[in-house]
Amino acid sequence: MAGIESGHNLLNEGTTPLTSGVSIRGLSKSFGSVEAVSGVNLDIPQGEFFSMLGPSGSGKTTVLRMIAGFEAASAGSIFLNGQDVTDQAPFDREVNTVFQDYALFPHMSIQENVEFGLRAKKISKEERAAKATEAIEQVKLGHLSDRLPHQLSGGQRQRIALARALVLRPKLLLLDEPLGALDKQLREEMQVELKTIQRESKITFIFVTHDQEEAMRMSDRIAVFNAGKIEQVGTPEEVYERPATSFVAGFLGSSNIIDANSASGLIGMQEMVNIRPERIKLVASSETLGSDEQGVQATIKDTAFLGANTLFILDVNGITMIATRVNEELPGETKGFVVGDRVLAKWKKSHVTSIPK
Ligand code: ATP
Repeated sequence: MAGIESGHNLLNEGTTPLTSGVSIRGLSKSFGSVEAVSGVNLDIPQGEFFSMLGPSGSGKTTVLRMIAGFEAASAGSIFLNGQDVTDQAPFDREVNTVFQDYALFPHMSIQENVEFGLRAKKISKEERAAKATEAIEQVKLGHLSDRLPHQLSGGQRQRIALARALVLRPKLLLLDEPLGALDKQLREEMQVELKTIQRESKITFIFVTHDQEEAMRMSDRIAVFNAGKIEQVGTPEEVYERPATSFVAGFLGSSNIIDANSASGLIGMQEMVNIRPERIKLVASSETLGSDEQGVQATIKDTAFLGANTLFILDVNGITMIATRVNEELPGETKGFVVGDRVLAKWKKSHVTSIPK
């Protein structure tokens, strides 16, 4: 495909912006000597659930704030539906943002909070009330609309912040770690709700998170950030199964990244490779390999029961590898391997992925 580097799905700066959706070209941002974002190119078609994933400080929030217009770009351009908005004020862009701290007005009821944004749009009082009621229903909090924000739980406040953004029917909603303050259970409930709302409303969601599982669970596509740059853009399957770089392989899930030198000695491959721990099977060291398999002799250094899985730490001629096994049975039901056992760690050849860099 024109303009797409093989394997990375990274765009060139010269690629024509989308007529429907968000396009970013050559976007950079420096804070003094810190280059927070450097040369980012992205296309996000209208209606996509797109996540920006990366470790703390990798530049995700800065890109989001530049799309919203809260931060000026040092270089590059931002296009919304084909129109260059780089120099537009935030309120001139058809964009809404939901922040992690919710930013609700404390003295206003839930209903008033949600109606607030509609006031500026010169909509009649009755219509405002009807639209706000509908948005509050959408996040399933109709029974609480008379309450003040401090009378709600964190998760409920989060949903109101979302209703307040949704009521304006933006084409684009930016969400900066909106679930960061929630406990695990509520977070998982909200992930499902957010995804349903996005699918039904067809609003483009750009979602910032450092939680790889959350990004994979919710997104159509993910951009993986590292040190101000995008390392790869792809569907959850693509970035997990075909990581373009060792950083992406290591950031998404667990990995056994083997450098070219070691791979040559261990399995006769002259390139950096990755084998996911869940694809490695441990069998008796005397077993032989099938023609479609590869394997190494290993000693079990440690094991850990993780509930759904058991983790095995392996020593392979001085190299540490990890393998996981799904606990289909209760502990002790069948005899498993224990620390000190010699095993054959094997996997299908087709499950080895080469890592370009
Ligand atoms: P997090 O997940 O922690 O929010 P992030 O990936 O969103 O991280 P950014 O907030 O975009 O990262 O920050 C990127 C870099 O820019 C960091 O090194 C940060 O310290 C720096 N930075 C961000 N905002 C400013 C600012 N206003 N002034 C100076 N440096 C800043």
